[in-house]
Amino acid sequence: MSADFGNLAAEIRKINESEADWLHLDIMDGVFVPNISFGFPVLKYVAQLSEKPLDVHLMIVHPEKFIREFKEVGTMMMNVHYETCVHLHRVVQQIREAGMKVGVTLNPSTPVCALNDIVCEVDMVLLMGVNPGFSGQKFIPNTVKKVYELRELLDKTGSKALIQVDGGVNLETGAQLVKAGADVLVAGNAIFKAPDMKEMIHLLKNLK
Ligand code: ZN
Repeated sequence: MSADFGNLAAEIRKINESEADWLHLDIMDGVFVPNISFGFPVLKYVAQLSEKPLDVHLMIVHPEKFIREFKEVGTMMMNVHYETCVHLHRVVQQIREAGMKVGVTLNPSTPVCALNDIVCEVDMVLLMGVNPGFSGQKFIPNTVKKVYELRELLDKTGSKALIQVDGGVNLETGAQLVKAGADVLVAGNAIFKAPDMKEMIHLLKNLK
Protein backbone atom coordinates (compact mmCIF):
# COMPACT_ATOMS: atom_id res chain seq x y z
CA MET A 1 0.00 0.00 0.00
CA SER A 2 2.91 2.36 0.63
CA ALA A 3 4.65 1.69 -2.67
CA ASP A 4 4.57 4.07 -5.62
CA PHE A 5 1.92 2.36 -7.78
CA GLY A 6 3.10 4.27 -10.84
CA ASN A 7 6.49 2.62 -10.51
CA LEU A 8 5.47 -0.73 -9.08
CA ALA A 9 7.97 -2.78 -11.07
CA ALA A 10 10.89 -0.62 -9.88
CA GLU A 11 9.63 -0.73 -6.27
CA ILE A 12 9.40 -4.54 -6.35
CA ARG A 13 12.87 -4.76 -7.87
CA LYS A 14 14.23 -2.77 -4.92
CA ILE A 15 12.49 -5.15 -2.50
CA ASN A 16 13.92 -8.14 -4.40
CA GLU A 17 17.41 -6.73 -3.94
CA SER A 18 16.89 -6.02 -0.23
CA GLU A 19 17.16 -8.18 2.90
CA ALA A 20 13.35 -8.28 3.27
CA ASP A 21 12.10 -11.80 3.93
CA TRP A 22 8.58 -11.42 2.50
CA LEU A 23 6.48 -9.01 0.46
CA HIS A 24 3.38 -7.93 2.42
CA LEU A 25 0.29 -7.13 0.33
CA ASP A 26 -2.75 -5.31 1.72
CA ILE A 27 -6.02 -6.25 0.04
CA MET A 28 -8.99 -4.00 0.95
CA ASP A 29 -12.60 -4.26 -0.15
CA GLY A 30 -14.22 -0.96 0.85
CA VAL A 31 -16.61 -2.94 3.09
CA PHE A 32 -14.58 -4.27 6.02
CA VAL A 33 -12.29 -1.24 5.81
CA PRO A 34 -13.05 2.26 4.42
CA ASN A 35 -10.64 1.97 1.50
CA ILE A 36 -10.06 -0.13 -1.63
CA SER A 37 -6.52 -1.14 -2.57
CA PHE A 38 -6.17 -3.54 -5.51
CA GLY A 39 -7.39 -6.90 -6.73
CA PHE A 40 -6.20 -9.97 -8.62
CA PRO A 41 -4.95 -8.30 -11.85
CA VAL A 42 -2.44 -6.23 -9.84
CA LEU A 43 -1.69 -9.08 -7.46
CA LYS A 44 -0.83 -11.40 -10.40
CA TYR A 45 1.54 -8.80 -11.81
CA VAL A 46 3.21 -8.31 -8.43
CA ALA A 47 3.50 -12.08 -7.95
CA GLN A 48 5.28 -12.43 -11.30
CA LEU A 49 7.85 -9.77 -10.41
CA SER A 50 8.42 -10.61 -6.76
CA GLU A 51 11.22 -12.96 -5.77
CA LYS A 52 10.05 -12.76 -2.15
CA PRO A 53 7.30 -15.01 -0.75
CA LEU A 54 3.91 -13.28 -0.73
CA ASP A 55 2.38 -12.47 2.65
CA VAL A 56 -1.20 -11.51 1.78
CA HIS A 57 -3.20 -9.57 4.38
CA LEU A 58 -6.91 -9.70 3.58
CA MET A 59 -8.97 -6.82 4.90
CA ILE A 60 -12.06 -8.14 3.17
CA VAL A 61 -15.34 -9.76 4.18
CA HIS A 62 -15.73 -13.45 3.27
CA PRO A 63 -12.04 -14.11 2.55
CA GLU A 64 -12.91 -17.83 2.28
CA LYS A 65 -14.53 -17.14 -1.11
CA PHE A 66 -11.12 -16.48 -2.67
CA ILE A 67 -8.89 -19.19 -1.18
CA ARG A 68 -8.38 -20.90 -4.57
CA GLU A 69 -7.53 -17.63 -6.33
CA PHE A 70 -4.96 -16.63 -3.71
CA LYS A 71 -3.34 -20.05 -3.93
CA GLU A 72 -3.23 -19.80 -7.73
CA VAL A 73 -1.36 -16.50 -7.75
CA GLY A 74 1.29 -18.03 -5.50
CA THR A 75 0.38 -16.79 -2.01
CA MET A 76 2.67 -18.17 0.69
CA MET A 77 0.78 -16.85 3.74
CA MET A 78 -2.95 -16.10 3.63
CA ASN A 79 -3.83 -13.82 6.49
CA VAL A 80 -7.50 -13.28 7.43
CA HIS A 81 -9.02 -10.96 10.00
CA TYR A 82 -10.57 -12.54 13.10
CA GLU A 83 -13.36 -9.94 12.82
CA THR A 84 -14.40 -11.11 9.34
CA CYS A 85 -14.69 -14.85 10.02
CA VAL A 86 -17.70 -16.14 11.96
CA HIS A 87 -16.41 -19.70 11.38
CA LEU A 88 -12.72 -18.95 11.81
CA HIS A 89 -11.67 -22.53 12.58
CA ARG A 90 -13.21 -23.74 9.32
CA VAL A 91 -11.54 -20.97 7.30
CA VAL A 92 -8.17 -21.78 8.88
CA GLN A 93 -8.61 -25.45 7.90
CA GLN A 94 -9.61 -24.53 4.34
CA ILE A 95 -6.55 -22.32 3.85
CA ARG A 96 -4.27 -25.07 5.14
CA GLU A 97 -5.94 -27.69 2.95
CA ALA A 98 -5.32 -25.42 -0.05
CA GLY A 99 -1.59 -25.62 0.73
CA MET A 100 -0.90 -22.18 2.17
CA LYS A 101 0.34 -21.04 5.55
CA VAL A 102 -2.37 -19.43 7.71
CA GLY A 103 -2.32 -16.15 9.57
CA VAL A 104 -5.03 -14.54 11.70
CA THR A 105 -5.14 -10.79 12.25
CA LEU A 106 -6.55 -8.84 15.20
CA ASN A 107 -7.78 -5.25 15.02
CA PRO A 108 -6.53 -2.88 17.74
CA SER A 109 -9.78 -3.30 19.71
CA THR A 110 -9.89 -7.12 19.58
CA PRO A 111 -8.28 -8.71 22.67
CA VAL A 112 -5.55 -11.32 22.37
CA CYS A 113 -7.65 -13.76 24.46
CA ALA A 114 -10.05 -14.03 21.48
CA LEU A 115 -7.44 -16.40 20.01
CA ASN A 116 -7.25 -18.79 22.97
CA ASP A 117 -8.92 -21.62 21.07
CA ILE A 118 -7.32 -21.15 17.65
CA VAL A 119 -3.75 -20.11 18.38
CA CYS A 120 -2.39 -23.67 18.10
CA GLU A 121 -3.87 -24.02 14.59
CA VAL A 122 -2.23 -21.01 12.94
CA ASP A 123 1.26 -20.22 11.62
CA MET A 124 1.15 -16.54 12.47
CA VAL A 125 -0.84 -13.95 14.40
CA LEU A 126 -0.83 -10.40 13.07
CA LEU A 127 -1.51 -7.63 15.58
CA MET A 128 -2.59 -4.37 13.96
CA GLY A 129 -0.67 -1.34 15.20
CA VAL A 130 -3.25 0.98 13.59
CA ASN A 131 -6.86 0.64 12.48
CA PRO A 132 -6.73 -1.10 9.09
CA GLY A 133 -7.50 0.86 5.93
CA PHE A 134 -4.80 3.43 5.31
CA SER A 135 -1.01 3.57 5.30
CA GLY A 136 0.92 6.24 7.15
CA GLN A 137 -1.11 6.21 10.39
CA LYS A 138 0.30 6.79 13.87
CA PHE A 139 1.15 3.69 15.92
CA ILE A 140 -1.23 2.78 18.77
CA PRO A 141 1.07 2.25 21.83
CA ASN A 142 -1.21 -0.41 23.41
CA THR A 143 -0.04 -2.77 20.62
CA VAL A 144 3.21 -3.34 22.54
CA LYS A 145 1.25 -4.63 25.53
CA LYS A 146 -0.66 -6.97 23.22
CA VAL A 147 2.61 -8.41 21.89
CA TYR A 148 3.66 -9.26 25.48
CA GLU A 149 0.24 -10.87 26.08
CA LEU A 150 0.39 -12.86 22.86
CA ARG A 151 3.93 -14.07 23.61
CA GLU A 152 2.64 -15.31 26.97
CA LEU A 153 -0.32 -17.08 25.33
CA LEU A 154 1.95 -18.78 22.78
CA ASP A 155 4.34 -19.93 25.50
CA LYS A 156 1.48 -21.21 27.65
CA THR A 157 -0.21 -23.16 24.84
CA GLY A 158 2.96 -24.33 23.10
CA SER A 159 1.87 -22.64 19.86
CA LYS A 160 4.68 -22.07 17.36
CA ALA A 161 2.85 -19.16 15.68
CA LEU A 162 4.92 -16.18 14.67
CA ILE A 163 3.97 -12.76 16.04
CA GLN A 164 3.67 -10.14 13.30
CA VAL A 165 2.90 -6.43 13.72
CA ASP A 166 1.59 -4.21 10.93
CA GLY A 167 0.88 -0.47 11.03
CA GLY A 168 2.98 2.40 12.33
CA VAL A 169 6.17 0.33 12.40
CA ASN A 170 9.41 2.31 12.28
CA LEU A 171 12.79 2.03 13.98
CA GLU A 172 11.43 3.42 17.26
CA THR A 173 8.21 1.37 17.53
CA GLY A 174 9.94 -1.62 15.91
CA ALA A 175 12.51 -1.72 18.73
CA GLN A 176 9.72 -1.80 21.35
CA LEU A 177 7.88 -4.54 19.46
CA VAL A 178 10.93 -6.76 19.03
CA LYS A 179 11.74 -6.37 22.73
CA ALA A 180 8.16 -7.43 23.56
CA GLY A 181 8.54 -10.58 21.44
CA ALA A 182 7.50 -9.72 17.88
CA ASP A 183 9.00 -12.00 15.19
CA VAL A 184 7.86 -10.25 11.99
CA LEU A 185 7.64 -6.50 11.37
CA VAL A 186 5.63 -5.12 8.46
CA ALA A 187 6.94 -1.74 7.36
CA GLY A 188 5.22 0.46 4.81
CA ASN A 189 5.97 4.17 4.82
CA ALA A 190 9.03 3.58 7.02
CA ILE A 191 10.80 1.90 4.11
CA PHE A 192 9.08 3.29 0.99
CA LYS A 193 9.53 6.89 2.18
CA ALA A 194 13.06 6.30 3.47
CA PRO A 195 15.94 7.95 1.59
CA ASP A 196 17.57 4.51 1.31
CA MET A 197 15.03 1.69 1.37
CA LYS A 198 17.55 -1.16 1.50
CA GLU A 199 19.42 0.43 4.39
CA MET A 200 16.15 0.95 6.34
CA ILE A 201 15.20 -2.71 5.81
CA HIS A 202 18.66 -3.70 7.03
CA LEU A 203 18.25 -1.56 10.17
CA LEU A 204 14.74 -2.89 10.90
CA LYS A 205 15.89 -6.47 10.48
CA ASN A 206 18.70 -5.97 12.97
CA LEU A 207 16.63 -4.47 15.79
CA LYS A 208 17.20 -6.21 19.10
ZN1 ZN B 1 -1.10 -5.32 6.17
